[in-house]
Amino acid sequence: MPIPEYLDNWLAPDCSDHNEYKVSGVIECLCGNTTFKVDYLGEEDDQNVCTMQIENHPNPEYNDYFALVINITCTQCARQHTLYDRHQHGWNGYVAAEGKGFPYTADMLHSKSCKNCGKTEFKLQTGIYSMGIADFKENAPERPQEQWVNAFERITVDLTCTDCGHAQTNWLDDECM
Ligand SMILES: [Zn+2]
Ligand SMILES: [Zn+2]
Repeated sequence: MPIPEYLDNWLAPDCSDHNEYKVSGVIECLCGNTTFKVDYLGEEDDQNVCTMQIENHPNPEYNDYFALVINITCTQCARQHTLYDRHQHGWNGYVAAEGKGFPYTADMLHSKSCKNCGKTEFKLQTGIYSMGIADFKENAPERPQEQWVNAFERITVDLTCTDCGHAQTNWLDDECM
């Protein structure tokens, strides 16, 4: 299964078919809780889909840098984790950008709220799509084969509000290749 290393202990695969090319499951904190607050660096379009943002960064070196970062905070133990940073994860982030990550500060993040009730706590479902092991070996021959799980091509995130039950499929759907 293409579970990237940074989500190893966070993505609990569901019972549906998963294989070398796709895995999906719920996000579960190390404490066992599955409810999170979600903060993001990006922009919601008119369909409330989270997309990249051309950030006006304090450091001019990073202007016109397409930022997309999703941070989650467990509502039970307050542990924080990066669910996705397109400059750190997936093929573009991990292989092409060498996993450097986007240099943001906490005040640049937006808090995700439910478009139905305005509350800010969610259950998260994530899908990870991969081109597979052979493709990784062909396109990144200089890297150890076991890193293939980190070079996924697409990630999706579905949100369900824990207060009103409103579900948003593919709140995030990013091509990373
Ligand atoms: Zn927790
Ligand atoms: Zn709601």
